[in-house]
Amino acid sequence: MAAAIAGRHPLIVGALGTLLAAGVLGVSVLTLVAARDTAIQHAHETSRNVAAVLSSNISRTIESSDQSLQSLIAALDKPAVQHMSADVRHELLFNRTAASRYVTGMGVLGERGQLIDGCCSSPRRWDFSDRDYFLVHRQSAKVGLYISGVYRARARAGVETMALSRRIDNADGSFKGVALVAIDVAYFSHLLDDLDVGPHGFTAVVRADGTLVARNPYFPPALALKLGKSSTFPRMTNQESGFYAAHSPSDGVLRLYTFQRVPGTPLIAVVAPALGDVLASWRTLSWVVGVCATAISFAFCAVTWLLAFALRDRALAEDRLTELTQTDSLTGLKNRRALDEVLENEWERLQRNDSSLSVLYVDADHFKQYNDQYGHAEGDKALKHLAACIAQRVRRRGDCAARYGGEEFVVVLPDTDAANALLVAEGIREDLERSWQAPREAGMADLRPFTVSIGCATGWRARPASLDELTKAADLALYEAKRAGRNCIRLAAAETSLGN
Ligand code: GH3
Ligand code: MG
Ligand code: MG
Repeated sequence: MAAAIAGRHPLIVGALGTLLAAGVLGVSVLTLVAARDTAIQHAHETSRNVAAVLSSNISRTIESSDQSLQSLIAALDKPAVQHMSADVRHELLFNRTAASRYVTGMGVLGERGQLIDGCCSSPRRWDFSDRDYFLVHRQSAKVGLYISGVYRARARAGVETMALSRRIDNADGSFKGVALVAIDVAYFSHLLDDLDVGPHGFTAVVRADGTLVARNPYFPPALALKLGKSSTFPRMTNQESGFYAAHSPSDGVLRLYTFQRVPGTPLIAVVAPALGDVLASWRTLSWVVGVCATAISFAFCAVTWLLAFALRDRALAEDRLTELTQTDSLTGLKNRRALDEVLENEWERLQRNDSSLSVLYVDADHFKQYNDQYGHAEGDKALKHLAACIAQRVRRRGDCAARYGGEEFVVVLPDTDAANALLVAEGIREDLERSWQAPREAGMADLRPFTVSIGCATGWRARPASLDELTKAADLALYEAKRAGRNCIRLAAAETSLGN
């Protein structure tokens, strides 16, 4: 059943198959898009965790350094410490300083920026009055803990350093100096060294003013300056933490930036894997899935179309076969089997409505003689011509012309009353007569004259009582026509037709 429907509508089957294949392809694409989003989401979560760990490490270091600073300032305030000799005081205040590996210096500056006391540098009268960590406190009493930019420590052979400083006040609140802790920038680099964010990604610690503190992989300072100038950098300074994708202003690589501000400081931990690295395995998967899904979809499509056309060809072959089993081979009209079917159907239909059904029995006159005189081949030709004359007149939808057998034909005319049936019959008889009277016009140059007799019967619902009676009436009418001299038409007597 399904195969029959598919055979009749190959385009629908092919289109459905194509739609299905496109659906499979669409689902694959959607799955890959979802997988891409997941990969990016996963990278974001990983980056966020790394940035959080980085930030909390730095925060801890800064907190402990700040505590040292505050302890130093508190100790300086104590009268007992103030009355100590310089050596003892130095011993007390600065000897525990190098507890942290990266704290490379600690000191107290006077109100003009001169180093009053400190540790871990060569004993000289250093002047740091030009440093930001001094100036900022001299200008304002409200800075609290200040974290300086990266500078090259002049007291330690130009090592890159960052200072944490706090202001020291006199009793009246006026500026007395600055206490500071110096941290080696290598501390930040070491923190970053342990983090791997792919071959084209980087991790960094930057200041909110856009200057780079440390970066892994290392970045030449000249290029690092570009970071602060990048159009996307303000996003990092406006929020405590965040995530965005942007092209790097220095190398053009598209990276996924996750940043986290170290609380209470101008430092920002940045983790920026390259999008290409994040999506590397997804790309491989996409290739495999994409190629497979496309190949499968195309194959499915091709198979569907081939199947659809194969089913269509089969349906056509079946149609042809059915047609052949219902067709008379000599004349091309319906055969006896098809006629029986049509008659049954039309009779059934007639019983359901108030219409009429007419049947014509058409018989070639003296055809035995015709055959004997002109030969069987000529007889066949004449029968074909007669069939053509009948078919010419029986063209309405639902009408049926069939070869009953030998030189006898039957015409079934549904929804046709006796008067109209007679018109059809007369048309057939006249056409045949005219064709041998003017054979050239009829395209039958060598047609020998012959005539037909036609018996005609018409039935209505339940009149006559059976199909048999209707056909018998038509046959009797034909017999009447023969008796009346042939080449004429006879209508079954009304009472016969009515089945009385
Ligand atoms: P009537 O006018 O009374 O019908 O006489 P008739 O000779 O036509 O009737 P009859 O039944 O005696 O002969 C029918 C002839 O039709 C016999 C046969 O030679 C011829 N016939 C039947 N079938 C074919 C056919 O397929 N081809 C040919 N050429 N002749 C056929
Ligand atoms: Mg005959
Ligand atoms: Mg006959």
